[in-house]
Amino acid sequence: MVPVGSTLKVVDVEGCQIGDLFVLAASDLDERLSPGVTRLINFTPFPHLGESFYSNRRRSLLTLLEDTSPGLHDMTFAPCDAELYRTFNAGDEHPNCRDNYFRAMAALGVAAHSHPDPINVFQNTPVNLNGSYTIGAALSRPGDYIALRANIDLIIALTACSVDIPFEGIQPNGGRSTSLRLEIS
Ligand SMILES: [Zn+2]
Repeated sequence: MVPVGSTLKVVDVEGCQIGDLFVLAASDLDERLSPGVTRLINFTPFPHLGESFYSNRRRSLLTLLEDTSPGLHDMTFAPCDAELYRTFNAGDEHPNCRDNYFRAMAALGVAAHSHPDPINVFQNTPVNLNGSYTIGAALSRPGDYIALRANIDLIIALTACSVDIPFEGIQPNGGRSTSLRLEIS
């Protein structure tokens, strides 16, 4: 639970680590982050400093206060899931952000039947003019962080993405999964 008015900081402890941040309204878990509504309101693929992230009911959930990273984040990809790793022959039970989310919600005693699409912090996957993605390693350095203000009471879950397979020869996490630190103040 993140109370309204709190500042939420996602710190990349060792650098080059993608995080999936799931955001829901504490008062009603059917209200959750909508990347589509957020793009519609800000008219940009990802909020700039001072802009907000919105729910599927058009309520402002979070405002981006600070970003010490090079500023590359994604809000177009779903969380990685077991099927993705099976597709790339990386094992049937590979750790993944979707299952991590459901596990975290179960630990809170919440029966979650679906997940919101996440904010993929530090994910370096810009869209090209021809509509394709460039897959790059995360550019965040040790200690880089983004800070966000909670605009209503929120439930959030953060997973350090465990992607360890190359896409077009590039390892998005630099080939290893490391820790993220979540600070709420
Ligand atoms: Zn992931």
